[in-house]
Amino acid sequence: MDPDSESEASILEELDQKLCPNCGIAFKEFRAQGRLGCPHDYVVFEDELLPLLENIHGETTHVGKVPKRSPQASQLQFQLIKLRNELRSSVEEERYEDAARIRDSIRRIEEAKSKAEAGHASNEPD
Ligand SMILES: [Zn+2]
Repeated sequence: MDPDSESEASILEELDQKLCPNCGIAFKEFRAQGRLGCPHDYVVFEDELLPLLENIHGETTHVGKVPKRSPQASQLQFQLIKLRNELRSSVEEERYEDAARIRDSIRRIEEAKSKAEAGHASNEPD
């Protein structure tokens, strides 16, 4: 009997069904593509994403549906998604100074991410 892993799986399936009311993207699509349908998605899925990432961080044995990348890279990926959305909205709102700052942060995080991924076996399709 291992009720924990079973409930964890069903929680993940439930999360996958969750939709953004704004653009209709499912959490499943978001996880698969690592990209948001609209800036609102970050708000909609934030509650799901944060504990998920903390869970990845704490887990060493159970991989399950979580993509195979280092916990550090996952956290950086999450930050990148957030920053890219901020970048897009700052450009849309013509806040170019903010956009430039955000772009610098993205560059730094991308560097850190590739270093984090290089430390592990990296098998990214792209
Ligand atoms: Zn959306």
